[in-house]
Amino acid sequence: MVDSAVMGRLPVVVIAGRPNVGKSTIFNRLVGRRQAIVSDQPGVTRDRKDGMALLRGRRVRLVDTAGLEEAAPETLFGRMRASSEQGIAQADLVVFCVDARSGITPADAHFANWLRRQNRPVLLVANKAEGRAGAEAAMEAYSLGLGTPLAMSAEHGEGLADLMGEIVSLLPDEETLAEQDGDKPLRIAIIGRPNAGKSTLLNSLLGEERMITGPEAGLTRDAVSVMLEDDAGPIEIVDTAGMRKRARVQEGLERVSVSASIEAMKMAEVVVLVLDSDRGVDEQDLQIARLIEREGRACVLALNKWDAVKERQATRKAISDRIEISLAQMRGIEVVTFSALTGEGLHRLLPAVRRASEVWNARVGTSDLNRWFEEAVERHQPPLVDGRRLKLRYMTQAKSRPPTFVLFGTRAEQLPDSYKRYLINGLRETFHLPGTPIRLLLRGSR
Ligand code: GDP
Ligand code: GDP
Repeated sequence: MVDSAVMGRLPVVVIAGRPNVGKSTIFNRLVGRRQAIVSDQPGVTRDRKDGMALLRGRRVRLVDTAGLEEAAPETLFGRMRASSEQGIAQADLVVFCVDARSGITPADAHFANWLRRQNRPVLLVANKAEGRAGAEAAMEAYSLGLGTPLAMSAEHGEGLADLMGEIVSLLPDEETLAEQDGDKPLRIAIIGRPNAGKSTLLNSLLGEERMITGPEAGLTRDAVSVMLEDDAGPIEIVDTAGMRKRARVQEGLERVSVSASIEAMKMAEVVVLVLDSDRGVDEQDLQIARLIEREGRACVLALNKWDAVKERQATRKAISDRIEISLAQMRGIEVVTFSALTGEGLHRLLPAVRRASEVWNARVGTSDLNRWFEEAVERHQPPLVDGRRLKLRYMTQAKSRPPTFVLFGTRAEQLPDSYKRYLINGLRETFHLPGTPIRLLLRGSR
């Protein structure tokens, strides 16, 4: 197995909350060693607040903000906030901990309000909820507007498995973390069926005849990417020409563009799907577009050979209509018309690519998300399943690239596809997520 630290950074989980709610105890439980000093005295200086934990086979970096509380004076909220701010900027997940026995305090509520605006996934934990009375007390934390609290007792080891499971399910995957590492160039792939003009496009973008178009091109090429730069920074173009030629040797011509496309889009963040405008959209183009959706990539539709199109308005409308009907999963996708040959309109392509990438990377705040969600459910109730109404509780965005949301509720996993589509369309419109695949995962409650 490859060490995940080599592949990319470890996901960071920050434990935040008032002093004395049990953050360090939770930290110790997760790390599995008595690393942090636990004390009844609020604010005893802790020397360790950063550790590694293995949760369900996933290695994570845990940060306990408890020791940081001393650094900032002022109010309790100010201290919590100051200590957490340091961690939250780099957090992939915030575990916000409250004390079920003492109930929700103004400082908790204040902090929750602030936390909701930080655009980070939050897992709400009601600790010290041992026994049945504890579980009931824990429900009070629901009022914080951060979703259903997970009731647990760190001291007694209750609810730990649930905690680990929830944390892992809310973390971005390894690939996403690797991509976020450092100031990497934006990786794009130029794909499309043969003769759409991919090589010509690449040449024009590079501004020089670095590649030779035509049937013999690329036969001896080994390089799989080329670099260029726009105003926003470096861009790496995965060179599918080389892949196409390799694939051609192994397979029949028919399958060439599809297999090479998959290979290329797996490496890319944004896919530029090149079409020959004069020929319109055919089934093969749609097939490639569906693959892009399935792989969860951002996409820009590039209508090339625009110079050869006579009825521009009609052509554009015909293609847009076809896309709108056949590719509902990528509704709102950007369509750019240009000529790779003459360069006309080409300056619009990379800005569209950047916008697609931004949408693909977008994060929606939990409070905005749930405000919308409540309205959406009110406007259009989920259908009955087996004569009973599904109880949908709340939603969080688990990750981006592509935007991925998790919907929690009783029997949520039974939600019909039509309702799922209703929610996805609403998410797309409300939070301006055009042209990107959107994932909605359903989690039935315990
Ligand atoms: P922190 O200041 O948030 O890091 O809190 P600590 O982890 O230091 O815990 C504060 C106190 O609460 C300690 O005395 C712990 O033993 C106690 N404590 C932690 N978890 C639990 C729990 O699940 N139940 C009960 N009853 N006490 C707990
Ligand atoms: P690829 O197979 O997708 O890489 O396509 P090529 O870049 O090799 O182009 C196929 C053919 O279309 C070549 O004859 C190109 O000169 C031509 N072509 C490419 N882009 C344009 C364009 O914008 N306008 C016109 N009229 N022809 C183009």
